Amino acid sequence: MAFETYECQACGDEFKAFEDSEAAANGYCSPRCEVDGKGL
Ligand SMILES: [Zn+2]
Repeated sequence: MAFETYECQACGDEFKAFEDSEAAANGYCSPRCEVDGKGL
């Protein structure tokens, strides 16, 4: 497994996550951003 850098779709911050992690798949740096990004 490897860390990759991603840009959060909600807040725009860069964050590192394992390439096969849920965060990488979703593109959000945190559960809070996932809620904001999806408008839930
Ligand atoms: Zn974020």
